[in-house]
Amino acid sequence: MSDARRDPPLSEADPEVYELIRGEDRRQRESLRLIASENYASRAVLEASAASLTNKYAEGYPGRRYYEGMGIIDPLESLAIARAKALFGAEHANVQPYSGSPANLAVLLALCEPGDTTMGLSLPAGGHLTHGWKVSATGIYYKSVQYGVRRSDHRIDMDEVRSLAREHHPKLIWCGHSAYPRHLDFAAFAEIAAEVGAHLVADMAHFAGLVAGGAHPSPVPHCAAVTTTTHKTLRGPRGGLILCKEEHAKAIDRAVFPGLQGGPHNHTTASKAVAFAEASTKAFSAYAHAVVANAKALAERMMERGYTLVTGGTDNHLMLVDLTEQGISGRRAGIALDRCGIELNGNAIPFDPRKPFDPSGVRIGTPSLTSRGLRSEHMATVAELIDRGIKEAAAKDGEPDQAFCDGLRAEVAEFLSEFPAPGLGEA
Ligand SMILES: *Cc1c(COP(=O)(O)O)cnc(C)c1O
Repeated sequence: MSDARRDPPLSEADPEVYELIRGEDRRQRESLRLIASENYASRAVLEASAASLTNKYAEGYPGRRYYEGMGIIDPLESLAIARAKALFGAEHANVQPYSGSPANLAVLLALCEPGDTTMGLSLPAGGHLTHGWKVSATGIYYKSVQYGVRRSDHRIDMDEVRSLAREHHPKLIWCGHSAYPRHLDFAAFAEIAAEVGAHLVADMAHFAGLVAGGAHPSPVPHCAAVTTTTHKTLRGPRGGLILCKEEHAKAIDRAVFPGLQGGPHNHTTASKAVAFAEASTKAFSAYAHAVVANAKALAERMMERGYTLVTGGTDNHLMLVDLTEQGISGRRAGIALDRCGIELNGNAIPFDPRKPFDPSGVRIGTPSLTSRGLRSEHMATVAELIDRGIKEAAAKDGEPDQAFCDGLRAEVAEFLSEFPAPGLGEA
C-alpha cells in the first residue's frame, strides 16, 4: 500500500502496468484503427475519467441520495443530465448506465415483464446481442422474435417487421445495430410499434455521435426510449446513456437504480458531461459529417479496387466488405492486417455461409481516423493500405511474411504521423 505522504505516480508505483498503458498509447498512435465501434476520446474526456470522483458513493439521483457529501456530485450529475437532454432534444436522461448493455437491460426491466415478447434485428443481420439474441439475458428472460434483412438487397425489410409485429404482438421493438451500413426508417418503425401497441426503443450505440452532430436522422422524436453507449462515435468515456419520454422517466430511473446497478461511476459521469459539451459544438458537427463523408469516400475507393460491399455502400460511419471473391475469410484477413498495423474486425455478412467465428466479411469504420483529422482525399491511401494487406494475406493463405508485415506497418505509422491522435499527447 502506498502511504499518504508518499503517493508516487503510476510510473513509480507500478512500472509494469504503467509500461503496458504506454504500450497501448503507442499502438493506438501508430496503427490505422478501423474498428467501427472505437474512437479516440479527447484529452479533456480522459482527464475527467481519472478524477477523484471515483472515490465517492452516490446511490440514488440528484437530491435523492442514500449518502451524504453530495455537494459536488449532485450538481455534476445534474449538469450531465441537462447536457444530454439538450444535445439530443430528449425529455429525460439517465446518465448512470455503466455501459451500453446494462442500459438495454434497464430499458427491458423498465418497460417489460419477464417473459414478454420483444423484437430486434438478428445478430447475423447486423443487430446486437442485447436485442434478444439467444445467448444474451435479453433473449433468455424475454421471448425474442428476430427480424433480418432482405436477401435481394441486404436491407431491413419493413414489410417483414410489420408482419412479424402483427403476428407476435411484441411489448417492445428494438431498432438499432452494430453492423448495418444504412439509415433506419425510424418513422416506419414507430408506425408499426403504434399499430401493435409496442414500445419502440432505438439503440443508437454506434451512431449517437452522428445524431449529435446532425449527420444521421435522430430516433429521439420517434421512440419511447433511446439507449446508447457514450464511447463510440460520441467520443466520450466507456459508458451508457438512456433517453426517454417523460412518461417513462420514473420507470427508467428505478430500473437503473435500484433495479440493476448500485453506485454510479461519478468520474465517468463527469467525463460524459465533458463529452456531451464537446458534441454540442460546431466543430463536432463538422467531425460527424466528416465521418460520413470519409466512409462514403472509403467505400468508393474499396469498390474501385474490386471489393464487394454489403448493400453496395454506406450511409453512416461503417461498411461491410464481403471477402468471398478475395478468397480469404474475414477473420484471417483481420488477423493478418493486425500484424500490419491495420485494425478491423471479421464480421458476418448477411446470409453468411461461414461460421460466425470465422465469417466471410470485415467491418470497417471511419470514426477513429476522422478523429485524427483524415479527410476524404486521404481515403485513397487508406484503401490502398488495406488492399495491399488483404491481397498479400490472401496470396499467402492468411500468413504474410514478417518482412511484409513490418514494411506495411512502418508505412502505416509514417502515413499517420502527420495526424496526431487526440488524447494521447506526443510520443
Ligand atoms: C456496442 C453496442 C452495445 C453494447 O455496448 P457495451 O458498452 O459494449 O455494453 C449495445 N448496443 C449496440 C447496438 C452496440 O453496438
